[in-house]
Amino acid sequence: MIYCEEKVVAFIGLGSNLADPIVQIDQARRAINDLAKVDELGFSSLYRSPPMGPQDQPDYTNAVMKVVAQLPALVLLRALQKIENSQGRLRTGERWVARTLDLDLLLFGEQCIREPDLVVPHPGLADRAFVLYPLEEIDKDIQVPGLGTITALVSNCPLSGLIKIN
Ligand code: ADP
Ligand code: MG
Repeated sequence: MIYCEEKVVAFIGLGSNLADPIVQIDQARRAINDLAKVDELGFSSLYRSPPMGPQDQPDYTNAVMKVVAQLPALVLLRALQKIENSQGRLRTGERWVARTLDLDLLLFGEQCIREPDLVVPHPGLADRAFVLYPLEEIDKDIQVPGLGTITALVSNCPLSGLIKIN
């Protein structure tokens, strides 16, 4: 079967607070680049942010990657989850617990997706400084479907302890 999927610009959020987070993020960046039909267009600075939820865990290191993808969003999500697993992510079912690697699909072109396993734009996007600030750093022209410009979202989101570390 020949099928032709259109190219879509997507943004992936990377986070880690265990087992040498900077190395985890660098390794994930290389693994994403190794995926067929996914190519890097940009990568933000690294940021440090306090944990959400339980406070008895290390600070997070975060970054955002811009890619062009020629595959469906759910296929990309599954590939990202495989990378999380291969970097030792344990799934306990609890939210916001410490993890070696968290890869979130933040934006997928102009698409609004509401499936049981995939919601895009990522539901936490508008409230999360560690997502919004790096997004704006790598692309000032982002329009978040249903929510407006990245610049407006940033200006309504306090830093909440976010710092750029490189
Ligand atoms: P969190 O990132 O909120 O701490 P997880 O990474 O454990 O939580 O993801 C929990 C579930 O969120 C996954 O099973 C996945 O199917 C779902 N999910 C829904 N939308 C997205 C998205 N845009 N990016 C990543 N995961 C998503
Ligand atoms: Mg996640």
